Amino acid sequence: MEKTFVIARCVRCGRFLLSKAGVKTKICPYCNARFVLDRAAAVAWSESAQKARQMLAELKKRHAGANER
Ligand SMILES: [Zn+2]
Repeated sequence: MEKTFVIARCVRCGRFLLSKAGVKTKICPYCNARFVLDRAAAVAWSESAQKARQMLAELKKRHAGANER
């Protein structure tokens, strides 16, 4: 099955963000850092936007407080 959504972690601020698969670079909406969306940055894949958003919410919950606020 094709994975069309990627959850990536910003290399600068460490926050999680949602992106479409196939995108090469991504600009972080939180700190404006531009980084390459490769295997190092991607943490999860999903074939549906709904699922991806759910995963993103869980990751944010799990990491709440662990990163800068
Ligand atoms: Zn960032």
